[in-house]
Amino acid sequence: MESHLNQKRFPFKLDVDRVPYSKDLYLECCRCGDISSSLPDDDTWCCKCSNILLDSGRIGIKYPKKIRAFAYSPRVIKELTPRASLSPFLFTFLLLSLSLFALAMVFAGLLILTFNAA
Ligand SMILES: [Zn+2]
Repeated sequence: MESHLNQKRFPFKLDVDRVPYSKDLYLECCRCGDISSSLPDDDTWCCKCSNILLDSGRIGIKYPKKIRAFAYSPRVIKELTPRASLSPFLFTFLLLSLSLFALAMVFAGLLILTFNAA
């Protein structure tokens, strides 16, 4: 942990019902200042004031508002942030309508060419 002391922290928006377990995601107790990775090396970890309890892949939180989560790399934040389930559909829809539009343009162009030639 010492090696991280001067590193920039990137905040992670924590959903206490769905805490991602990762060695690269750190949880900080705002009451006692203890910090642990959300996947601690030892199976169990508890902060000094027992606000956060990590126990082999489960988490117990007494005061959800008194927790901060962060990582030392924006890549970790990006990886752990849940993607909105709608976005793939939205993306497909946009792509589809865009290609339809392009197709219509080509078709219109062909029609105009045909009429001009006649
Ligand atoms: Zn604490």
